[in-house]
Amino acid sequence: MKINLIDLIILIDLKKHQIPRNKTWKLLFGILFRIIRIIRLIRIIIMRVYLDYAATTPVASGVFEAMKPFFSDKFGNPMALYGFGAEARGEIEKARAQIADFFDVLHEEIIFTSGATESNNLAIKGIIKGMGPGSMPGMTSFIPHIVTTGYEHHCLLDSVKSLVKSGEVEATFLKPNREGIVEVEKVREAIKPNTVLVSVMYVNNEIGTINPLKEIGETIKKENLRRKEKAGVAKKEPLPIYFHSDITQGVNYLPFSAKEFNVDLFSLSGHKIYGPKGVGVLGVKKGIKIKKIQDGGEQEFNLRAGTHNVTGIVGLGTAIAQLKVPSKKSKVTEKVRDLRDYFWRKLQEEVKNISLNGSFEKRVANNLNVSFKGVEGESLLMLLDMAGIACSTGSACGSASLEPSHVLLAIGLKHPDAHGSLRFSLGEGNTKKEIDYTVAEIKKAVEKLRKIAGKQD
Ligand code: PMP
Repeated sequence: MKINLIDLIILIDLKKHQIPRNKTWKLLFGILFRIIRIIRLIRIIIMRVYLDYAATTPVASGVFEAMKPFFSDKFGNPMALYGFGAEARGEIEKARAQIADFFDVLHEEIIFTSGATESNNLAIKGIIKGMGPGSMPGMTSFIPHIVTTGYEHHCLLDSVKSLVKSGEVEATFLKPNREGIVEVEKVREAIKPNTVLVSVMYVNNEIGTINPLKEIGETIKKENLRRKEKAGVAKKEPLPIYFHSDITQGVNYLPFSAKEFNVDLFSLSGHKIYGPKGVGVLGVKKGIKIKKIQDGGEQEFNLRAGTHNVTGIVGLGTAIAQLKVPSKKSKVTEKVRDLRDYFWRKLQEEVKNISLNGSFEKRVANNLNVSFKGVEGESLLMLLDMAGIACSTGSACGSASLEPSHVLLAIGLKHPDAHGSLRFSLGEGNTKKEIDYTVAEIKKAVEKLRKIAGKQD
């Protein structure tokens, strides 16, 4: 067995031993206490464990290398007609091809955006605004209907809510089941004659649960066929239902095929897949009419105005191309899943009264979302942060808010349990040693907080 000297010194709790009264010994013990305190502090400074890969990932070294020339040497505006522009344009098209190939879609079906937030806004608002008044023959007072879920990311939920507020749509927000899964049957039942869009996320960003996209896509396809047959009899154009999915948290670990899943539109962000921040994609199936939501230039097939983030786009293309190596993807997934499972086993052994939020089986490889009974999530997060461990309560975008997570409430958690939950999301860089350290720190922190809470009761 390997003995870590620092661990050994730290484990010795000298305060429990009787301190000699002799002046010299007292002085020596005093110095020793101070040394131990410094060692502890140094260890905390050195030990930094990042367990928030669902919030963001570091840029992979290969991705960074590919991006570098576009900060300085190759800085042209891709819309410019001269050589500098053509050079940048060529790189954008290369990235578009890398991404289109990965998802098996056409090049012109990939629209570059600033991230999943913009992609989700563009998908939801673009579809509805693209329909325009009078687009439904014979329906003068037509209000389209959107089916989505109550535990989508806020950028999607709020896009739908703003359209509801302005009276442009009506919407159904489906409740996931207790396991954190959206049931296909619920989607089918929610579809109404005026439904034009169904949006269901692939993997929930807080609890990591995986939705049955293929089955939902199949249901929507059947409904579209039924509408087509009905419209054919009446010699009218059928009202289509489009299927959008926010696949941001699934890209790293799960297969996704727009064709196979019958998905018409999909959103993702570069910084969740070891690419840069501030760049994303909206996949839009050819022939689907969406209206741009930002006025300005005619970039991106006139669907997204604004100068291209060339550096970011090159980075995103490279990050996706790296994911394409199937052996690498499955190896990384396996490694991360094994470590995550080890983490959960160890946590259950060491810390009492904890429960996992969301299905364990239908869960993305890197996620653990745990409720600690009788503990405030924020306080636990702070203590872990002091020990150099980064994790989150709710999603990163919502973590400034002290409201309980809408995701945890949607799956039926009571307020105290939702408040006492933390998300740990692992990544390629994590090690077993880090997990052991994290479990030990969680154990200490939870015991401390429960003791304080007990005294307050
Ligand atoms: N959707 C999901 C599922 C996410 O996890 C996130 C990021 N937390 C977003 C959308 C928004 O991504 P971004 O902040 O990069 O625009």
